[in-house]
Amino acid sequence: MTEASISSDLLVVGAGIAGITAAVEAAETGLRVALIEKRPYIGGKVTQFNKYFPKLCPPSCGLEINIRRLRTNPKVKLLTQAEVSAVSTQQGRYDVNVKVKPRFVTDQCTSCGECVKVCPESRSNDFNYGMDRTASIYIPYENAYPSKYVIDDTTCKGTSCNKCVKACRYGAIDLSQKEETVSIQTGAIIWATGWEPYDANKLDVFGFGTFPDVITNVMMERLAAPDGPTKGKILRPSTNGAIESVAFVQCAGSRDENHLEYCSSVCCMASLKHTRYIRDQYPDAEMDIFYIDVRSSGVFEDFYSDVSRDPKVHFHRGKVAKVSLDPSSGRLILESEDTLTGTRLKKPAELVVLATGMQPNVSDLPLDRSLIDGDGFLISDGSGAIACGVNTRPKDVSAVVQEATGSVLKAIQAIKRN
Ligand SMILES: Cc1cc2nc3c(=O)[nH]c(=O)nc-3n(C[C@H](O)[C@H](O)[C@H](O)COP(=O)(O)OP(=O)(O)OC[C@H]3O[C@@H](n4cnc5c(N)ncnc54)[C@H](O)[C@@H]3O)c2cc1C
Repeated sequence: MTEASISSDLLVVGAGIAGITAAVEAAETGLRVALIEKRPYIGGKVTQFNKYFPKLCPPSCGLEINIRRLRTNPKVKLLTQAEVSAVSTQQGRYDVNVKVKPRFVTDQCTSCGECVKVCPESRSNDFNYGMDRTASIYIPYENAYPSKYVIDDTTCKGTSCNKCVKACRYGAIDLSQKEETVSIQTGAIIWATGWEPYDANKLDVFGFGTFPDVITNVMMERLAAPDGPTKGKILRPSTNGAIESVAFVQCAGSRDENHLEYCSSVCCMASLKHTRYIRDQYPDAEMDIFYIDVRSSGVFEDFYSDVSRDPKVHFHRGKVAKVSLDPSSGRLILESEDTLTGTRLKKPAELVVLATGMQPNVSDLPLDRSLIDGDGFLISDGSGAIACGVNTRPKDVSAVVQEATGSVLKAIQAIKRN
């Protein structure tokens, strides 16, 4: 059960890598921190990645250490399935109302999984971007923290079914739980609400949603992940078979006045990383990358140089105009102009990966609209409401961690000032 009221020095909203970093850094200076997360688990988008560029290590590397710091620090109070519904401020203090959705599973849960075996209902698995399904009672992913099951109340039949309640020998399922409102009094707020992938359904020329072999870059992360829908084997969705050719469409909906006008800064590196995922599994696969310019600055340049030495990775400077299906071969055809040679290209591929950008998770926050810039990103208010992570601008994880650490200093200054 959550308390009805919490007094904290700092509230951090969003427990992705930005929010977790801010929360642990602040707590380790002695601040009392409330950390709230709308998903049933913490870690944000990086939990859904297969590997991190540029080192290609698993995201669990950095995340596990931070989660341990968080778990063992009594100064941090974590609420999951929680979202801010209202904020008011007076004399430098903030009063915040938080709505906490019921999990229907208590701390008695040992993650034994007996409940899943009897659950007759299912739900689309958002962790795998809808590429598979789970039971209505589920654990979001194997190493999820908190390590507890959760029930999707939009598909669960509740007490009229009750099978999981009977199967749980620890009495950890409580279907009577209701949504609660928790009020939090705090001296500063760090907004670390991150991003969502740009909706590829809006990019009708690329056939996402029409052709199963057109996927997005975040889906590629899940296809390559050992705990993903295909257990890490990258297969062609239409046939479940091996892949001989892949095309990457850079700036899919980015740097485009009809979609996102800005550059998401990580998509070039993400696609370069994805060529490695493919190469590891398919030594002979041909890959075509269609780009406007490859943005892999600073320390990432070596990674780009390395990928470009692969003789079966071909770079074409030009935006893809259209993706269609060749019914005779079953392959997809990408039409584009190569702006370096002035020639028109028609390239076949068995799998097309759309490098869609990152959109800030800001529009639903109960915030003054003057704190949102023209591209939808959040601006700190110059006092105790501080933004960090991708909701201030697209960036990679190491830049997010630096910004999050800096935001704690800003928060301490605001708390001391008031
Ligand atoms: C395809 C792709 C691959 C990438 N690969 C890499 C890589 O290899 N290496 C690298 O350095 N970077 C990579 N990135 C960038 C990386 O994903 C981001 O830098 C990172 O996710 C930013 O973390 P964050 O905490 O700001 O946001 P998020 O990870 O989005 O976390 C935000 C958290 O806030 C929660 N939240 C949102 N709204 C609310 C709310 N209203 N109330 C409470 N909680 C809320 C969310 O549920 C989430 O848990 C990649 C990006 C893409 C698109």
